[in-house]
Amino acid sequence: MRRNDIPGQDELKEVFTRMVDQEKLPHAMLIHGVEGGVSLPLALFLTSYLMCDSPEGGDICGTCPSCSKTRHFTHPDVHFVVPVNGTKTIRKELANTDRFIEDWREALIANPFLSLRDWYERIGIERSQGFIGDREGKEFRQKLSLRSYEGKAKVFIIWHADRMNPTFGNKILKNLEEPSERTHFIVVTEQPAQLLTTILSRTQRVKEEHISDESLAAFLEHTYDVTAERAMNLAFRAEGNVHSATKEAQENDDPWLAEFREWMRLCYKKDLVGLFQWSEKMAKNNRDAQRQFVSGALKMLDRCFRMGWVETPIPMEGEEASFYKGFAPFINASNVRQFMDLLEEASFHVERNVNEKLVWYDSSIKAVRFMHAGKKAAERV
Ligand SMILES: [Zn+2]
Repeated sequence: MRRNDIPGQDELKEVFTRMVDQEKLPHAMLIHGVEGGVSLPLALFLTSYLMCDSPEGGDICGTCPSCSKTRHFTHPDVHFVVPVNGTKTIRKELANTDRFIEDWREALIANPFLSLRDWYERIGIERSQGFIGDREGKEFRQKLSLRSYEGKAKVFIIWHADRMNPTFGNKILKNLEEPSERTHFIVVTEQPAQLLTTILSRTQRVKEEHISDESLAAFLEHTYDVTAERAMNLAFRAEGNVHSATKEAQENDDPWLAEFREWMRLCYKKDLVGLFQWSEKMAKNNRDAQRQFVSGALKMLDRCFRMGWVETPIPMEGEEASFYKGFAPFINASNVRQFMDLLEEASFHVERNVNEKLVWYDSSIKAVRFMHAGKKAAERV
């Protein structure tokens, strides 16, 4: 990862490269990321910089043998620990990061701004959840005890560390308490509050910076070859979520838009059978995906409200524009609050293991009511 492969974060990049230059990189760091942010790419940049044979001007050289290995995520001294679970081909008892290492490399090469959901989908565990540590044991101990292959540092990147189980947490803790020489742990998480407090107290914590629309747009424009106008539109809509902006730039589509559109269409038609089937389908997604649907839906509702009521022009193109144009008037002051509460409540119940099919069906019935109240209010105007 080169310095410019990551949008924004100028201060953090400075801090990281200075720590390496001055040989003051702590042996345990925690990067506190934001949802859809760049905490993983930051960890990758820091690692590449640490490993590079001739870094220059605060960036990697990009051409030395180490850079070639870190670029392909095959450096023998860079180890990853990520959430996994059993799949159709790998039994749960055998599932650890090493079993999925090829998938992991491919996923990072395809898009280093990877989300947990993308990762679960790639390895086919989107209906369950990933865990860290259940079966990392032997391989992890081996990697820890080996000397570094290249004689430099050894790095362990632990991604979504909040998903680690207590046994693994305690194993890590031991290493944080008695650090081996030239071994660095980079713990990446969006939810540090979920980590053992003893881990938190032994890591040096840095927080991802907020990214401006302008720097995200500039990044999208030069990385994904989109026009300046589209780059600005994408950045504006992403509201700091680099993951969704890069995904949209590559795919031309909001991942949850189709799902939301379908839901709203069924609500509009008061199609109870259709809503029942939709609820069944939604409930089949894992909890993370359902949570992401809710956060996507909240954004879409917010956009509709702003378009229909406050008359703020929202930049967008094509099919998406036509959906918003037709649907936005139904979301107005008479129902926007209720709609948002409804989604937050659904998310709350899903988190707490309430029967998901019922949660979504119940929410659908309420959504029908809210939508038709909004329609009436729109007609009165
Ligand atoms: Zn290099």
